[in-house]
Amino acid sequence: MINKFTVWFDNLPIQRKLILGFGLIASLLFVSMGIEIVRTSFEDNARQKSDDAQQRMMLAERLRTEMISVRREEATIGLNFLAYGFAVDSETLDPIDAHVQEMLAIISEFKGLKDNTGSDSKGTILEIEQQVLAYDSALQTSFDLVQQRGNENEGWGGDLVSKLEILSAQGFDTTEAVKLAKEVVQFRNASEGAGLLQAELDKLETSIQSSERSQVKKDSYLAVLSEIRTAATNLESSQGLLVSSFAEFSIISGNVETLAENFVDIQEKSSADALSEYKNARRVGGYVRYIGIVAMLMIGGGITVFTSQRIAKPITVLTETTQRISSGAYNQRTAIKSQDEIGQLAQSFDRMATEIQRREANLVEQAEELKVATAQAQSAARVKSEFLANMSHELRTPLNAIIGFSDMLLMGIAGELNSQQRHQVERLRLNGNRLLALVNDILDLARIESKRVELILKPFSPRALSEHMASQMSVLAKENNLKFEIKVESDVPEQLIGDEKRIEQVVVNLLSNAFKFTQQGSVRLDITTNLAEKQWAIAVTDTGIGIPPHAINLIFEEFRQLDGTSTRAYQGSGLGLAITRNLVRIMSGEIKVQSKLGEGSTFTIVLPIIPESPTRQKTEPAVIAETLNL
Ligand code: ADP
Repeated sequence: MINKFTVWFDNLPIQRKLILGFGLIASLLFVSMGIEIVRTSFEDNARQKSDDAQQRMMLAERLRTEMISVRREEATIGLNFLAYGFAVDSETLDPIDAHVQEMLAIISEFKGLKDNTGSDSKGTILEIEQQVLAYDSALQTSFDLVQQRGNENEGWGGDLVSKLEILSAQGFDTTEAVKLAKEVVQFRNASEGAGLLQAELDKLETSIQSSERSQVKKDSYLAVLSEIRTAATNLESSQGLLVSSFAEFSIISGNVETLAENFVDIQEKSSADALSEYKNARRVGGYVRYIGIVAMLMIGGGITVFTSQRIAKPITVLTETTQRISSGAYNQRTAIKSQDEIGQLAQSFDRMATEIQRREANLVEQAEELKVATAQAQSAARVKSEFLANMSHELRTPLNAIIGFSDMLLMGIAGELNSQQRHQVERLRLNGNRLLALVNDILDLARIESKRVELILKPFSPRALSEHMASQMSVLAKENNLKFEIKVESDVPEQLIGDEKRIEQVVVNLLSNAFKFTQQGSVRLDITTNLAEKQWAIAVTDTGIGIPPHAINLIFEEFRQLDGTSTRAYQGSGLGLAITRNLVRIMSGEIKVQSKLGEGSTFTIVLPIIPESPTRQKTEPAVIAETLNL
């Protein structure tokens, strides 16, 4: 499976690989952002729950506190009852009512909370509400009763007192009855007061009955008394009602207190639970965050490493293979098979390497063949040079004899020659001399090529050399009717080190050619130096026939003459420049030619200025090897 994926991935174009890699990392980022959002909301939720639970707990505690206050007020009323008899009025009930109203407000606040749906707390709060509402309605009834009872000036109490005063105004003694009535209204002497008042009213009735008033007046007084009795009865019964409702109050408040206690317990527990849940949520959230970060780093890192490795690895292999091939290991191949750009590059590279290896093998083969051929050529050249050297030497002896005998004939030692004979012998001597010159040249060249030349380095005067050239060549200049100019630059040293004979040979060669190939005009010899480069130069310039550009290099080859036909106008062997170039090379110099057809040529020999320590310098092996390859 993994292998299949790797192969599939390797075959993707690099751009797709990068897009895939970055895409995976981006989706990873989105996933982790999603996890973070879920985690945060999970934590927020838990915190909200904890806050709500705490708020519920606080409300429950306030409820309990209010309930305790109610109970305290009730206890105060109870104590008062014990101490002074039962006494209830609006002022007694007001604080209780205030606490009850506060409790109802707390309950409605509680019910208004978002999260009040916990089954325990909901059941309890509804129960508490029911009880508190019952308490409240009982309280309102009590308020109504207290209202109806009034005091000695209003309500039933007021009725009682004012009507007693009507009877008192008619001359009946109501003092005791008024006193008792005030006590009943004010709940003083609660246990006996009502009974005593009834007894006093009975007495009052008797005194009305027994008074000497008309029956009509008596009846009207008795009617007033009857109203007084009703008010007294009302007061008495309301007292009973109030006492029993207080008993009901304490039962309800007792219930509510128990419920409130439970409620607080429930809320405390729920708050503690919610808090620990919140803490848990935070802890788990923390783990999720860290695990998420680590996982993301690992997966992201893995994707990055995988992608970059799959892209970079073939490049590394390719680079290493290139380096190995460039250091000569032509059998190396990348063996990369993927179909992406690098894979295709590597496969082309492998094909190229195969081709290079094949060509390299061919080259090695050819080099071997060349080596053999070179060795053969070298040995053939050496044999040729040796043969030429020997042959030339052998040729010179009979040639010298021919020339010597021709001279003797011309001198008339063996008798005078007639003019025809003289002419023929002179031709004989001329051709003999030419042949000798040719043989000498061949001998010279052969000597150079077969390493038999030794340079004799010693001080010589370039100026003396130029003067010598002037005298040697002036005859030739005159014969050809040419101007011959010589100039030695002022900075040319008085003395230079070199093989004067060989230098002279070279200069004579160049000057001879210049005179030979110039019909009119002049021939110049310039000697100059380039002290900075530690070089000096001899330049021979003519105004002769010039050399065509294609032939500039050919003229240095042996037996090469531009006019190579048998009817050529200029005589010569074609060896002069070959010898000249070889000698110049042996002297570590170089020869340059500048020429224009029909205008003339300049041959310049540049030689090194050798420091003053005259030694015999044998020809360098490198130079010989080169000369043999001519
Ligand atoms: P050669 O004995 O024929 O002069 P060289 O080797 O000295 O042999 O010269 C080779 C050829 O180079 C000459 O035959 C001639 O064609 C050409 N050459 C040499 N020097 C000059 C020159 N100064 N002007 C024109 N051609 C020249």
